[in-house]
Amino acid sequence: MRKLLLTLILFTSFFSCKTTENTTIKTTNIAENTSTRPKLVVGIVVDQMRYDYLTRFYSKFGKDGFKRLVSGGFSCKNTHFNYVPTYTAPGHTSIYTGTTPATHGIIGNNWFDKESKKYIYCTDDASVKTVGSTSSAGLMSPKNELTTTMTDQLRLDTNFQGKVIGVSIKDRASILPAGHLANAAYWFDGNDQGRFISSTFYIDALPKWVQEFNDSRKVDEYMQTWNTLYDINTYTESIADDNNYEKPFEGLDKATFPYDLKKLAAKNQGYSILKATPFGNTIVKDFAKLAIQNEGLGQDVITDFIAISFSSTDYIGHRFGVDSKEVEDTYIRLDKEIADLLNYLDSQVGKGNYTVFLTADHGAVRVPSYLADLKTHAGYVNQKKLKKKIRKAIRKKYGSDSLIANISNYQVFFDKKALKKADLSLKKVSNYLKSKIENWDNVQQCITGETLKNNSFPNGILHKIQMGYHPKRSGDVVIILDPAYISGYGPQGSTHGSGFTYDTHVPLVFYGKHIPQGKTFRPIVIPDIAATISALLDMQMPNGCTGNPILEIVE
Ligand code: ZN
Ligand code: ZN
Ligand code: ZN
Repeated sequence: MRKLLLTLILFTSFFSCKTTENTTIKTTNIAENTSTRPKLVVGIVVDQMRYDYLTRFYSKFGKDGFKRLVSGGFSCKNTHFNYVPTYTAPGHTSIYTGTTPATHGIIGNNWFDKESKKYIYCTDDASVKTVGSTSSAGLMSPKNELTTTMTDQLRLDTNFQGKVIGVSIKDRASILPAGHLANAAYWFDGNDQGRFISSTFYIDALPKWVQEFNDSRKVDEYMQTWNTLYDINTYTESIADDNNYEKPFEGLDKATFPYDLKKLAAKNQGYSILKATPFGNTIVKDFAKLAIQNEGLGQDVITDFIAISFSSTDYIGHRFGVDSKEVEDTYIRLDKEIADLLNYLDSQVGKGNYTVFLTADHGAVRVPSYLADLKTHAGYVNQKKLKKKIRKAIRKKYGSDSLIANISNYQVFFDKKALKKADLSLKKVSNYLKSKIENWDNVQQCITGETLKNNSFPNGILHKIQMGYHPKRSGDVVIILDPAYISGYGPQGSTHGSGFTYDTHVPLVFYGKHIPQGKTFRPIVIPDIAATISALLDMQMPNGCTGNPILEIVE
C-alpha cells in the first residue's frame, strides 16, 4: 500500500505543481534518513519474566529462541525497574515512554482517582467503543498515558508513513505500548467471545484479516489439553507438580497436569482460560505473524514497529508461582514461540533487516508461604486488618476516620476537604500516620507524599518510590513492606509490585540490525530501552524520556 502511494506521489510530481514537488522532496528525505534504519522494530515484552527465568531454564531452551537472541545479540544482564510500583501497566508504559510513573502518570493498573473519588482502570475510556465484539472490553484507550511512546515518536518522525501495531492478550499490554498514534492495538476478548478486538480510539472497524481470524473460530484450536511438552521428570528446575503453593483452576482440587481446557472453560470464564495457559502465548504469536503479513510490516525502507506482549506468563505465574512445573513448561514452550517468530521474521522481513528487543514489565516474588516454609523471612500482611488498623489510628487521634478517602496500592489518600474542615494540615496528619505505621510488624518503612515532593532521593528504595510517585495521582502516605512480604494476595501463587530485586530485575536483550554481539553487567534502567531504540532509529526520544541510550549498543 505504502509502495503504491510512493509511486503515485513520484508519478504525479512529474506533472507537478509546487506542492507535490515539496511532498516528493519530503518523502525522499524520509527514505534517505531511514535507509540505514531497520525495516521493522519488534518489541517483545514477556509479562512477569524474572531475570533468572533466562538462566534457570537455559539448558532446556533450544538454539533458535531465547538462546539465539542472547548469543547473537546484546544482553544487559543487570537491568532493573527504577521505580515502585512494579505492575503491568506502569511496566509497559515505562518501557515504551522511556520514563517512570512520576512523569508518564500510569501509577498502577487501577488507582483511586482523587477527583472522582472512584477507582479508575489504567486504560478505561468511556468515550470510545469496542471494535470487534459485543462486549465492553474495548472501551479503552491510552488517554491516561501523559507522555509519548517511542512508537508515537516513530509515527511522528515518519510523518505517519511508518506503521505501528500493538498485540497482546491483555488490553493494557497492547494499548500502552502502541501509544496514542498507532495504526491499531489489538487485544483478546475472552469469556464467551474469544476474539481479538480494538477500540474506536484507533479504528472504526476491524480490518478484513482480523475479522477473518475471528470468524474462522480458529480460537477453538487453542483450547487444547495442557500437558508438559517434555517428560515432567526432566523438569528438574521446579518443585513437585502437586504442592501447597499453587491455586488450582476453578473446579479442580489440585493444580496438577494435565489440564483439559475444553472441560475447564465453563467454570473458568470460557475463552479467558486461554490467558492462563501457554496457548495464550501461541495465539498472540500467531496473531502477530498475521499482523506482520497482512499489514505489510517491514516491507519497505520506512521503519514499522510491532509491539508484542506475551501476557500468559503473568497469569500462570500468579496462579502457580515462580517455582512451579507450570511456569517451567510455559517458558520451555515460549522459547519455541520466540524461535518460530524469529524464523518468520527471517523469511518475511529478511535476516538483518529487523531489530528486536525483549524484556519484561516486572518480575515476581517466590510464593511467600513457600519461602516461609523454607524458614526465610517471608509472609503476608493481611490487607483488611492493615486497612482497619490505619483507620483506627486516625480515628483514635483525630476523632474520625472520614479524614481518609482511600487506602489502595500501599498508599493512603487523605480527603483534603475533610482535613480543611477539621482544620488539620496534610503534613501533620501524614507525619503522624507515618510514625505509627512504621512501627508495625513487617513494615520496612513509610514515607509521606510531602517528603517525596520536597526532597530528592538519589538512590535506594526511596529513589524508586519517588520515581513511581506522581504528585497529582499518587497518595499521601506510602507504605513499604519487608522484602518477600505481600498484602492482599496469597497464600498461593506469586505476585509483584515491590521495589526489591525479585520484582525489578528483568531480562533485556537486543538483537538484529545494528546490534553488536555482547553483554554487560553495568546497571541499566528500564527507561534506557526507549532512549536506545530512539538512538538506533536516530529520531527524537519520547517527550518525557528520562533514560539514556545504552552506549555499548549505539556507539
Ligand atoms: Zn505484568
Ligand atoms: Zn502444579
Ligand atoms: Zn501480574
